[in-house]
Amino acid sequence: MSTSADTSVAAHTTYEPVIGLEVHVQLLTASKIFCSCSTRFGAPPNTNVCPVCLGMPGALPVLNRKAVEFAVRAAMALNCRINETSIFARKNYFYPDLPKGYQISQYDKPLAEHGYVEVQMPKPLTAKVAKEGREGRKEERELATKKIGITRVHLEEDAGKSLHEGFPDSDEKTAIDLNRTGVPLIEIVSEPDIATPDEAYEYLTRLKEIILYTGVSDCNMEEGSLRCDANVSVRPRGQKGFGTKVEIKNVNSFRFIREALVYEIARQVEVIEAGGKIVQETRLYNSHEGKTYSMRSKEQAHDYRYFPEPDLLPLVVDEKWKAEIAKTLPELPEARRARLVKEYGITEYDAQVLTVSKSLADQFEAAAKAAKNPKRVANLVQSELMGRLKARGAAIEQSPISMKGVAASADLVESGAISGKMLKDLYDLCFERNKDFPEVYEEEGRPQQSSDTSALEKIIDEVVAANPRQLEQYRAGKKTMLGFFVGQVMKASKGQANPQLVNELLTKKLG
Ligand SMILES: [Zn+2]
Repeated sequence: MSTSADTSVAAHTTYEPVIGLEVHVQLLTASKIFCSCSTRFGAPPNTNVCPVCLGMPGALPVLNRKAVEFAVRAAMALNCRINETSIFARKNYFYPDLPKGYQISQYDKPLAEHGYVEVQMPKPLTAKVAKEGREGRKEERELATKKIGITRVHLEEDAGKSLHEGFPDSDEKTAIDLNRTGVPLIEIVSEPDIATPDEAYEYLTRLKEIILYTGVSDCNMEEGSLRCDANVSVRPRGQKGFGTKVEIKNVNSFRFIREALVYEIARQVEVIEAGGKIVQETRLYNSHEGKTYSMRSKEQAHDYRYFPEPDLLPLVVDEKWKAEIAKTLPELPEARRARLVKEYGITEYDAQVLTVSKSLADQFEAAAKAAKNPKRVANLVQSELMGRLKARGAAIEQSPISMKGVAASADLVESGAISGKMLKDLYDLCFERNKDFPEVYEEEGRPQQSSDTSALEKIIDEVVAANPRQLEQYRAGKKTMLGFFVGQVMKASKGQANPQLVNELLTKKLG
C-alpha cells in the first residue's frame, strides 16, 4: 500500500525532496479561546457568537485557562520545551470569515519549541533484495527510528467558515458561519526533516496518535479538528541549500497528503529537468484528479504585519503550573508499546496495532487483566484474531470479536471447558456471522470439550486396537509414542476431547 510513494520517490535518484508540515489541531475546550461562547460543532450557523468573537469595537479578549493547559499538555507530549513567557500577536489579513480583520496568534515568542516526534520507517532495501523482489510486507521489514523535529507549537484562534452550498442562492452567494471564530487551535510546525511522502504520512499518524492520547483534541479531520498544510521542495541529492518551496494547503486526509506530495515532487523534478524554475506559491490538491493547482504566487502572498496583541498580557506558564500540567500527561503510545511488549510478551508489530488508539489499548488491557491468564489473551489476539483480520483485510476496529470476547474465550480455554481446536472453530463462526464471541458461544449451545470418561475410553480402545505397531513400540520403551496416541484420540473426538484427560486415560491404558 505504501510502496507506490516509496518507489516513485526512489525513482528520482538525482533529487531529494524536503518536506515540512504545519498541522492545526482544534482543542477540545468547552468554550472559545477568548470568550465564553460554546465550541460545539454542528450548532445552527452564527448561534455561538458574542461581541468578542464577532470582533465588535471595544470588546476585549480574555484568555481561556483550559486552552493554555491543553496546549501545554500537547506540547509536552511532543517533547517540546515550554517557554515561560510567550506573546500573543495580531496576524493581519482581510478575509470575509475573519470579522476582526486580524487573527490572534503567536509569532516570534511561541508557547513551545524544540520538540520532536519519533517515526518508525522500514530500513532502506539493499539493492540486492530490491532486485530480487524479496522486500516483503511492511510489518516484516526491519524498522529504523527517526526523529522529526518540531520547530514550534503555538496557540491561536480559528477563523469562521465560508459556506458555498446547502442554502438557497448558494449557486450565487457565499454565506459565513462565525461559530468557529475564536475556537482554540494549536499550530504544530515541523522542521523540514521529512524526506519522503511515506515519512510525512507516518509523522502525521504518530502525531495524531499522540494528540489523541493526551485527550486535548478529537483530531476529527471531517469536522476540521485536524488540518494539515505541507511545504515541499526538491534539491539535487547531497546539496545543502533548499530548493524553492511550494505550499500545499487544505488537504483533508493523510492519504491525500501523501498523494499530493508524490505528485508535487514529481512535478517539481520535471520542471527543473526541463530547465524551468520552481515558483514559490501556494497550491491546492485536487484528490479526484490527483494533481495540485496553483492558488496564489508569492507576489500575491500576504504581508501579515504581525505585532504584539495590545489587549492581552504576555502569557506566563511558570514552573508550578508546568508541573501541574505534566501530572495530567497520560502514558504515551511509545512508552505503552514498550510496556505491552514486556508485560504480555506480544510482538512490536502487534503492540503497534493494539495501541493505535488509546481506547483500543485500554480495552485490551482491561480484558487481559480481567481474564484468568492475561498472556493467553495477548496470545489469542496475536495468533487467532490478527490472523483472521489480516486475511479479510480488516482493521482491528472492525473485528467482530471484541477484546471482552477474546478474554471470555481465553477463560474457557484456561478452565478446560473448550479446546484450542474448538476455539478456532468458534472464532471462524464469529467472523462468518459477524458476531462477538459470547453471542456465538451461546448460539452454539455453550459447547464443552468432552470430559465424558466412558465415551473417551471407548475411543481410546478403538485407537489402540487400530495401531498395534505403535503400541508395541510404546511398550518396548518408546514413551514418545504417547503423543501419537493423544493426537489420534483428539482427532477421533474431532477436537472435542479434553487433552489433559486423554493424556491421563491413555497413560493408564497403555501402562
Ligand atoms: Zn464569543
